[in-house]
Amino acid sequence: MPACPNGPHTHSVAETCALIGCESEDWLIDRVRNGTFPARRIVRQLRFSDDDIAQIIETCAVQSGRVPTLPTPTARRRRQKSD
Ligand SMILES: [Zn+2]
Repeated sequence: MPACPNGPHTHSVAETCALIGCESEDWLIDRVRNGTFPARRIVRQLRFSDDDIAQIIETCAVQSGRVPTLPTPTARRRRQKSD
């Protein structure tokens, strides 16, 4: 398991996969490319800050909390202003 150094730093795709418990680097990279997950591009490599990783975990929590058979992903939006 990769250790977090003190101060600002980033993690590689492989380290991030290990930290979040994902088995496939492609799964992670796909979601960065389509904008689901945040990442940094440093030189030519994708890197993830601890904040990025925290946000990825949050994003996963929201998705797994939804009932996958309901086809109404935008239903929440209407609640904001009803007047
Ligand atoms: Zn870290």
